Amino acid sequence: MPTYLEENPPRIRQFRQPRREKPSGVIVIHTAESALDIIGDDTGAEGVAAFIANRSTYGSYHTIVDSNSRVRLVPFDAEAYGDGTGSNYHAIHISFACKAAGWPGMSAERRSAMVRQGAEAAAEAATWLRDTHGITVPHGRITRAQSEVRVPGFISHGERDPGRRSDPGAAFPWNEFLTEYQRLMVRPLLRTRLTARVHELVEQKKRIAATLKRLRARRDAL
Ligand SMILES: [Zn+2]
Repeated sequence: MPTYLEENPPRIRQFRQPRREKPSGVIVIHTAESALDIIGDDTGAEGVAAFIANRSTYGSYHTIVDSNSRVRLVPFDAEAYGDGTGSNYHAIHISFACKAAGWPGMSAERRSAMVRQGAEAAAEAATWLRDTHGITVPHGRITRAQSEVRVPGFISHGERDPGRRSDPGAAFPWNEFLTEYQRLMVRPLLRTRLTARVHELVEQKKRIAATLKRLRARRDAL
């Protein structure tokens, strides 16, 4: 499926395809500094997507999320313009449609819903990295130095560009985000294992039922 910026050509170029470097598995986390859309439907992500399509300065992400949706903006095999310090060639950028300073003031429900959408976006990116490039993105943060040598993992935009950025903010719930990401990544494996176990038990139940039937028949014949 084409991404938002492929379907809605931006006013100026907001991504570059193909990438100039192979993806590394570095995932940079942002907030878009948009106002939280707390009245009625949360249309924060759609609003940021439209803003990026219309802006006359550079700045984009691969995926923007709010509390009830994700908008895929840029193909993973293209560079998004998320970071001015050189990670764009190889990184994937994921952004939350809120302010870096906004996490503490959000309701617990809204924060969890945001984090959940962000983790889903990260899992989508990591699944693409795994299936297309054989890269595993662990559920952990990396330092700026590690991101420079292309170690897969998660880093904040603020850590990439400490002089100019602080997003996604000091209060971003990293533990909740990384735990949810990990849960989403192992879920398909767990499902396969549980399906096999269920099948095994169903077969066992059939064997027990057959034995029971045989024993009862013998008892009744006595
Ligand atoms: Zn940022």
